[in-house]
Amino acid sequence: MVNTELFLAHFNRHRKLSNMNNTQQVITRFAPSPTGHLHLGHAFSAKLAYDFALKHEGRFLLRIENIDQGRCKPEYEDAIYEDMKWIGLTWETPVRRQSDHMSDYDDALNVLDQKGLLYLCFCTRKDIQREIEESGRAAHSSEGPLYPGTCRRLTADERQSRLDKGTPYALRLDMAKALALQGSEKLTWTDLRAGELIAEPDILLGDAVLARKDIPTSYHLSVVVDDHLQNISHVIRGKDLFHATHLHRLLQFLLGYDTPIYLHHDLLTDENGWRYAKRDNSKTLRFMRENGEEVRF
Ligand code: GLU
Repeated sequence: MVNTELFLAHFNRHRKLSNMNNTQQVITRFAPSPTGHLHLGHAFSAKLAYDFALKHEGRFLLRIENIDQGRCKPEYEDAIYEDMKWIGLTWETPVRRQSDHMSDYDDALNVLDQKGLLYLCFCTRKDIQREIEESGRAAHSSEGPLYPGTCRRLTADERQSRLDKGTPYALRLDMAKALALQGSEKLTWTDLRAGELIAEPDILLGDAVLARKDIPTSYHLSVVVDDHLQNISHVIRGKDLFHATHLHRLLQFLLGYDTPIYLHHDLLTDENGWRYAKRDNSKTLRFMRENGEEVRF
């Protein structure tokens, strides 16, 4: 049994906490990646976003986050539509599918590039690990060691020689330069549960990858661009993405976007305290449906 009531209590606080003006429409979204079947945790998140929109006479959108074409599968996308319908949710069409909008991410990268905020990174995972071991003092975040900045320090000749050899590269955000642009202005964002927070992207994520070697964008960049283009007023998602929001807030500043209000909810766990995972088939909505189980909200 999934209980959204607890969270509905927080919703009541939103008008007080938000910096929305009263005429702005509430628009929420559920943004799954079709890399597996949806599970109960997804149902909870989707239903929260749906209920929030309903409660505030707003709009609820579904977005398919499928930039990683290697891992995303059309059958999982079809399953998302089926499973969402099964739990009684409806959404606006057409659905935004990230893979149809790659030029939007490219435009955003160009804006950042024009400000001199991106650099080419040729490092492999192994290179990064070696560099961290050799220097013996990598800065760490909750997500693990931060990128030590190896490619930020390449000379123009070194960079060119790698390019000449056709070495694949990612694009990283030069965090120090980004923070210098921010100057003394504090970037804040609001989470309906945690309150008003000051963005600390440097401590948490360092020089984040904004375009991957294999894909000309990244989760962080696409999600920020999409939330902006879709006028999302409230981003409702799991607590596992709480730290990412610090970086998203900085990207919004750099790209000149408004900042939505956030609600990072607890992640549902099974009877043993484990988070639901796509790889655990027995917890998927599909499995529940096939076994005559119900999702009750
Ligand atoms: N696509 C992400 C996921 O499936 C969610 C992104 C978000 O809500 O910001 O975990």
